[in-house]
Amino acid sequence: MFFIRQRTVINIISKLPNTKTTIFTEMSALAREYNAINLSQGFPDFDCDPELVKLISKKMEAGHNQYAPMAGVPELNRIISNKIASAHQSVYDPETEITITAGGTQAIFTAIASIIRQNDEVIIFEPAYDSYAPTVKAFGGLVKPYEMAPPHFEINWDVVKKLISVNTKMIIINSPHNPTGRILNDTDIKELINITKNTDILILSDEVYEHLIYDENEHKSLCKYPELKERTFITASFGKLFHATGWKVGYCCAPELLMKEFRKIHQFQVFSVNAPMQYAFAEYLSKNDIFSELPKFFQEKRDYFRKLMSETKFTLLPCDGSYFQNVTYENITNLKDIDFAIKLVKENQVASIPNSAFYSKTTDYRSLRFCFAKKQETLEKAVERLIKL
Ligand code: GLN
Repeated sequence: MFFIRQRTVINIISKLPNTKTTIFTEMSALAREYNAINLSQGFPDFDCDPELVKLISKKMEAGHNQYAPMAGVPELNRIISNKIASAHQSVYDPETEITITAGGTQAIFTAIASIIRQNDEVIIFEPAYDSYAPTVKAFGGLVKPYEMAPPHFEINWDVVKKLISVNTKMIIINSPHNPTGRILNDTDIKELINITKNTDILILSDEVYEHLIYDENEHKSLCKYPELKERTFITASFGKLFHATGWKVGYCCAPELLMKEFRKIHQFQVFSVNAPMQYAFAEYLSKNDIFSELPKFFQEKRDYFRKLMSETKFTLLPCDGSYFQNVTYENITNLKDIDFAIKLVKENQVASIPNSAFYSKTTDYRSLRFCFAKKQETLEKAVERLIKL
């Protein structure tokens, strides 16, 4: 006879004991509570093309309402493959090397889940998008952070080399980079090729901001470089492409060997993704070349925001890509970034993200991230408030 020990409280040993609610949820909730202008979480406050919304309704009315194929609607996979081939002269087989996901974050999660086991080491470049580290840890992996510092957030590869060990399984790269707005340069690529050459190290390349790149810079997708492509999962997002982050559709591309493992997880995680949207995206993308307009569209926003912000006491850091402008505030206060960000919401009704949230050690360089993917009048109103500081 077995006796089950009686408990009054269920004892859960958390897989992520130190993980709090993501800073994006926290700051957006605070912004709503204080009726603040929300430049924290990265999402546009303008709408997508109404034609695309109509097309999605049309696909629903036409009966595309059952499960899509597990890896994606073939027309959409084909269009992605063609787009990558023409932009980067690199071919992914639409049937075996591209999978449509429920947003960029799921693609990141699935890539990590399909590879990382107990005690595998993963190098990440911090400040880093806040899903990477907890996802690695959820599968027993160990995060090895490399800390980048303002103003330029450059990478010293000699230091990165010292983080590599026999247990290094993955390096997570993100360009254009969230939150810093930094992009990879030729030296970064060369060094990445050097340190992974003749190893089993895989790369996860988060390229969700691939089209948000400024000043005529060209996006260095890792699929351009055969030595890197063979070991890389690339993740991307339609939310950033269509100004519709709430639709949560993205994709992952990887060589077949890697994609096979990816799909083993994906099929039981989400099985497949929103069917009518995939049909609509395929038709829309076959008729509209939206990729080429995006850099100019967002660069105008970046330039406008920087011009407005130059009248404030904030110090603007460089921004080469992404939705984000980073600032330091040594001329305003010595408060910790989290305290200053909360004060800005409560007293000035402007929400930002404190960058210490993106460092494992909560390193605080007294800097904030503002999202400029907003209407002109939203940016104006926000800066009207910030200028008073
Ligand atoms: N990628 C967005 C950002 O950095 C937010 C994503 C999210 O909230 N999950 O702000």
